[in-house]
Amino acid sequence: MKGIRKSFGGLEVVSGVDLHIKDQEFVVLVGPSGCGKTTLLRMIAGLESISGGELLIDGQVMNRVRPDERGLAMVFQSYALYPHMTVADNMSFALRLAKVSKAERDRKVNDAAKILQLDHLLQRRPAQLSGGQRQRVAIGRAIVRDPKVFLFDEPLSNLDAALRIQMRIELARLHKQLSATMIYVTHDQVEAMTMADRIVVVNKGVIEQLGTPMEIYQNPSTVFVAGFIGSPK
Ligand code: ADP
Repeated sequence: MKGIRKSFGGLEVVSGVDLHIKDQEFVVLVGPSGCGKTTLLRMIAGLESISGGELLIDGQVMNRVRPDERGLAMVFQSYALYPHMTVADNMSFALRLAKVSKAERDRKVNDAAKILQLDHLLQRRPAQLSGGQRQRVAIGRAIVRDPKVFLFDEPLSNLDAALRIQMRIELARLHKQLSATMIYVTHDQVEAMTMADRIVVVNKGVIEQLGTPMEIYQNPSTVFVAGFIGSPK
């Protein structure tokens, strides 16, 4: 991201973000509610237009590339599953739209189901699943598309505390297993500290600090970061 900006009406909510995310990195964008994290993620996904600056993926400018042609997959907080479809159909829907053959779709869905321990649930509908299982289906839907980059928007915030801890561990395992780049938005400092290779602390539409969890915890660069994440200065 080079000088990325976003305004809604006259109001600027992202004010010049420069960020280079490395291949296979797990980057967590963290900051208080309303600081612009989701808007940043949605601009990367192509769900929100970019008001200024450049977004590049593998050196290609993406500003005007359609969302489905960016090589990304996004997992939403609300899961956004289709209630009338089975788990298997939810997972393969995007592949069907992309005209992937039935055999290939089945293979990808079965592979993803194994990774996520959903094998035995493929014929159920979302209403017959627990919250954690629904979230796994939402992640499965992203996995079958073999994206270069996974985008997560507060994916665990609807789960209870115990399940959240379990899903954190599973996401960390997935990150290793899939060798994918992951960009993860949360307002939860613990999630950021435990999952990130690098943390991006966002405040009022700008990057307040960038570093590994340890760097940020031990050396918060501002009072804001110290209050939000670091040890007391
Ligand atoms: P966060 O994810 O950090 O909670 P958001 O990126 O959702 O923050 O929002 C940043 C700011 O942009 C907020 O002030 C929010 O009200 C505003 N905003 C987000 N989306 C829209 C929109 N579609 N129209 C107008 N304002 C918006």
